[in-house]
Amino acid sequence: PSKEPVDINNIIKESLALREYELRHRGIQVVTHLADLPCFMADYYQIEQVFVNLIVNAEQAMTAAKKGDRLAVTTGVLEGQILVTFADNGPGIKPENLEKLFDPFFTTRTESGGTGLGLSICHGIVLEHGGRISATSEYGEGATFTVALPLKNNEC
Ligand code: ADP
Repeated sequence: PSKEPVDINNIIKESLALREYELRHRGIQVVTHLADLPCFMADYYQIEQVFVNLIVNAEQAMTAAKKGDRLAVTTGVLEGQILVTFADNGPGIKPENLEKLFDPFFTTRTESGGTGLGLSICHGIVLEHGGRISATSEYGEGATFTVALPLKNNEC
């Protein structure tokens, strides 16, 4: 991976722009809360792949197309890390599945042809950047994915 100084907020905006048509088509409201972020050394396109993957997963989870489908994307800095969260109000994730999400080939989308590779690839990319990716969910209420990128030894 070739790392360069990036503004994570720009990658988020670009990722949302790539999915803009589909998000609008599905009637998903996108809300962003982007805080000013320090520069971060990253492989732009790999991080974009992570964000696009998380957005597509949220789209797919919200297929019931209920009124009020919503994706909130938030950035901030906490305890020396850039935190990026993607919170949807889709069906959420069963507690017993939370720990399996990042395993290769874990999928619940058997009819719709999920490969179960998306999140394991995201996990690998985030690790390559010294970070961590995690998920929380209130089953039935939605899911939140957090990407934490440590600024230690990273600031541009
Ligand atoms: P795939 O999308 O091919 O199934 P992923 O690795 O991207 O593979 O996701 C694995 C599983 O994680 C999905 O099958 C789904 O069960 C769950 N998942 C991922 N994102 C969400 C989300 N936003 N809401 C609910 N479940 C999710």
